[in-house]
Amino acid sequence: MIEDKNQQRTSLSQLGEFGLIDHLTQNFKIVQPSTLKGIGDDAAVLDFKDKKVVVSTDLLIEGVHFDLAYMPLKHLGYKAVVVNLSDICAMNAKPTQITVSVAVSNRFPLEALEELFEGITLAADGFKVDVIGGDTTSSQKGLIISITAIGEADADEIVYRDGAGDTDLLVVTGDVGSAYMGLKVLEREKQVFMVNPNSQPDLDLYAYLVERQLKPEARTDVRTLFHALELKPTSMIDISDGLSSEIIHLCKSSKVGCNLYEDKLPIDPQLINVCEEFNIDSTTVAINGGEDYELLFTIKMTDFDKIKANPHFTIIGHMTQESEGIHLITRANTKIELRARGWDALQEE
Ligand code: ADP
Ligand code: MG
Repeated sequence: MIEDKNQQRTSLSQLGEFGLIDHLTQNFKIVQPSTLKGIGDDAAVLDFKDKKVVVSTDLLIEGVHFDLAYMPLKHLGYKAVVVNLSDICAMNAKPTQITVSVAVSNRFPLEALEELFEGITLAADGFKVDVIGGDTTSSQKGLIISITAIGEADADEIVYRDGAGDTDLLVVTGDVGSAYMGLKVLEREKQVFMVNPNSQPDLDLYAYLVERQLKPEARTDVRTLFHALELKPTSMIDISDGLSSEIIHLCKSSKVGCNLYEDKLPIDPQLINVCEEFNIDSTTVAINGGEDYELLFTIKMTDFDKIKANPHFTIIGHMTQESEGIHLITRANTKIELRARGWDALQEE
């Protein structure tokens, strides 16, 4: 998985700024009709006709948001795109364009940036978004990536965080918690590697979890599913920080409460096995682990029939009046207040 295919090191200064930009951006293709002008002028030009436009941006800093010791650059490029497209999906919009800005220190050779852009290209091609611009500059230390994603939707399609009603059902796509345990597995391998550099990690048992961490996907398919089902969620958010934290966001924005049911949580069997091995409670991981990039949304009770038995969706709870608070109902039928502990709190356990 972590391949070191390119041992060659070409210094960035050999190309100069414009040579570097040309080199890195030469493979980007334009496929969206809304892109009138992409890379190559002072600004890109877009035409969305009668569509509404949604825009979201993210900044990723080495050592804060990613660690290159277990994140190959190609995966980093892919993931940096995906996390932004996920935000567009969470508005029930279709991602159409991205801009990509990078700052690099001279510790990175050209080959490293090529790998990063390979991942960016793979994601842009796969999700059919146009790379329409960006900026390339130097940094004193480390790698910084900022991606802005643009998407389109009809005005009446857009779903906000604040529309949940107090009798709505709470639904999640896919499964949750796996990306967090994938990171734990990779961190453990890094420790082992530091003690014994000759060790070859055997990650087969952890393949799904590691893939969820290193190569997450944006749920661009969910918008299509909603269309087919003639379903419009009342509120929606994507799961970047962790399920509990996102539930609290939906509740606070919509001024409702929520009951989340432990026995309904969609947890992959591999996650359950690995949690046993690491002696961590899988419910804690499912609720607090982040970076799954699944979608969390609410629907009217009357739409229940549209999603029941659909393998993409799991009903995990229901909204309540705000005064009832936000709770996890455990398997033993006790009520625990949900708190947004997210990523960091898990480390302290
Ligand atoms: P300017 O001097 O106007 O900022 P640049 O020389 O920085 O222009 O960029 C030239 C063109 O290349 C512009 O279209 C810009 O959007 C694009 N570009 C620069 N860096 C990147 C990048 N990292 N990814 C994609 N496009 C880029
Ligand atoms: Mg520039």
